[in-house]
Amino acid sequence: CPLLSLQNVSKVYANGTVALEGVNLTLHPGEFVSLVGPSGCGKSTVLRLVAGLGEVSRGSLDWHNREQERQLAFVFQDAALMPWASVLDNVHLPLKLKGKRLRPSRANLQEAINLVDLQGFEQSYPRELSGGMKMRVSIARALVTKPTFMLMDEPFGALDEMTRGRLNDDVLNLWAQKHWTVLFVTHNIYEAVYLSTRVVVMAARPGRIVDDIPINQPHPRT
Ligand code: ADP
Ligand code: ADP
Repeated sequence: CPLLSLQNVSKVYANGTVALEGVNLTLHPGEFVSLVGPSGCGKSTVLRLVAGLGEVSRGSLDWHNREQERQLAFVFQDAALMPWASVLDNVHLPLKLKGKRLRPSRANLQEAINLVDLQGFEQSYPRELSGGMKMRVSIARALVTKPTFMLMDEPFGALDEMTRGRLNDDVLNLWAQKHWTVLFVTHNIYEAVYLSTRVVVMAARPGRIVDDIPINQPHPRT
């Protein structure tokens, strides 16, 4: 059964911008879905609505099981690290703020740091890291919450092609290993086709879905 579905969703921002109109999208557990399309077609708006950052203006967004909603994690384009905090504290701090129910042990934090191959950099500061390493810190920060559903908003858009390729493979490995569902925003069609089990194509003015294409992946998947 589906993880969540958006039915006839429209989003009008306070200034009157119609960011989305009549969007229908159903996600199933284990899918890797990329949203592609030109700037301004509403990709980030879809992600933010799914993350609960803002309300739909019309239509509905329904979770099949509300428990799933709490297991989502969001990775932003700019890594959004706190510059004054070490790698370890960056991975830890957002969870500290959420309260003790989610407070991970040092072993949990280390496990997340190891999964993104940053062992040895626990005490480094963001300014000492490359762009790819910063993104990996941001992925580690998402990992400690043990998400089952990953929302990624152009996470690798600012990186060089080599680094982007490596991180794409890291995300695919985590997706397979952790049985994630992923909703991934990119304007890079090659990246979308490489990563996804399904590519959803959007168009602008108003933001809408114009195609929804299953991809038969050649790489082994779980
Ligand atoms: P994309 O991620 O595809 O570039 P967005 O979802 O960011 O598209 O934006 C869709 C449309 O909504 C654009 O026209 C954008 O300018 C507008 N928009 C996005 N966020 C806001 C906001 N907070 N207030 C008003 N308009 C917004
Ligand atoms: P990434 O794919 O993480 O961006 P880079 O190509 O920037 O990787 O760097 C390759 C490797 O070099 C990194 O994984 C890391 O081990 C090391 N490295 C990169 N930047 C630094 C740095 N500022 N200090 C120490 N080691 C670094």
